[in-house]
Amino acid sequence: MDTHDFDVLVIGAGIAGATAAAHCAATGRVALMEAEETAGYHSTGRSAAIWIQNYGPPDVRRLSAASRAFFAEPPAGFASAPLLAQRPVVTVAPADQAAAMAAMLEDGEGLEPLPLAAIAAMGPPLREGYAVSAAIERDAFDIDVAALHAGFLKTARAAGGVLALRSRAGRIWHDRGLWHAAAKDGTVFRAPVLVNAAGAWGDEVAALAGLAPIGLQPKRRTALIIDPGQHDCSRWPLIGDAAHSWYLRPEARRKLMLSPADETDMPPHDVQPDEIDIAIAIDRMQQALDIPVTRVEHRWAGLRSFTPDRSLAIGFDAQAPGFLWMIGQGGYGIQTAPAAGRLVAGMVAGAVAEELLPILPLVNPNRFARNGAGTVAA
Ligand SMILES: Cc1cc2nc3c(=O)[nH]c(=O)nc-3n(C[C@H](O)[C@H](O)[C@H](O)COP(=O)(O)OP(=O)(O)OC[C@H]3O[C@@H](n4cnc5c(N)ncnc54)[C@H](O)[C@@H]3O)c2cc1C
Repeated sequence: MDTHDFDVLVIGAGIAGATAAAHCAATGRVALMEAEETAGYHSTGRSAAIWIQNYGPPDVRRLSAASRAFFAEPPAGFASAPLLAQRPVVTVAPADQAAAMAAMLEDGEGLEPLPLAAIAAMGPPLREGYAVSAAIERDAFDIDVAALHAGFLKTARAAGGVLALRSRAGRIWHDRGLWHAAAKDGTVFRAPVLVNAAGAWGDEVAALAGLAPIGLQPKRRTALIIDPGQHDCSRWPLIGDAAHSWYLRPEARRKLMLSPADETDMPPHDVQPDEIDIAIAIDRMQQALDIPVTRVEHRWAGLRSFTPDRSLAIGFDAQAPGFLWMIGQGGYGIQTAPAAGRLVAGMVAGAVAEELLPILPLVNPNRFARNGAGTVAA
């Protein structure tokens, strides 16, 4: 066996694995194993690339807030262009979503009611009679996901980290205090700490290691790019409904990205869009907005993977020394990535930053009742 020793072994080179590797590489040697021939091929390369503070459960909101400073001011040399561009979020509510809108305004920070007349002035041609109320969150952003992901990988490599592409961890075992993961070509990566950042495959990686699953559920989400005809939409806000049943945002200068905000249970795989979801997205959007769709220019789908309570699972497994879960990023893995990586590195070093301490119980992976395996194979 061709065995290589590291301080931390990360499985999965999406945004979760990349941020974990970048942050852990500051204090130890890191290996990052990725099954595909490019990093970011799965969920990370398929997101809507948005940062919204008022999105997701409490752990997500805290991680997003704690990530904000990194996005606004990344370390010198991290990226050649800004990682964020301001993009307000407008939410509209038809009559049957009035209660959802009221709850959003009550819960959210920095959300303001918006007169319906103001929407057309911002660009989106809202149909008369569709909505009864609207809200705006001004402090929201587009994220340059490719730059963020590349920046983390570059940071890890610059600190001596190794990115092994085409290296699916097919066998994982624990022996004399070290985690071992073997790729198909026989290469074995070995470290006292294994970070499970395998996205939709998080429970499968745990099973390979002989551990009980957390109950991760990957859910398909569909997206499409349309041409909005004569509209110059580059400065439009993101707009969607209060029930989260569709949303739309500008893509590049003259295109729009649209999603039916679908959540269809799927096994982990290279997921593709279904025509019915494309049609649903267009139908729901056109009930709200007067935008012609003559052509769907591009379509894709990705997996958003949730734990049973929809909060993230980040932390050491209580039954398997050195096995660190980093899964369940759902629809928020990009906007939470900087703080999630810092949290993982703090856990590995045994010194979590004070600011992040309140997040620990919210993301503790040991909060789930787990059946099945649960002991570490020697
Ligand atoms: C349509 C859509 C819109 C979204 N919009 C947003 C948004 O606006 N903002 C936001 O923050 N988030 C958004 N998300 C969610 C975000 O994309 C995910 O939360 C995030 O990308 C998850 O990252 P990850 O690294 O956990 O998973 P992935 O990117 O899937 O990475 C996991 C990696 O692990 C690898 N792997 C699996 N098993 C093994 C193994 N045995 N050995 C080696 N490698 C392995 C896989 O090949 C994969 O590359 C969206 C998602 C979708 C689909």
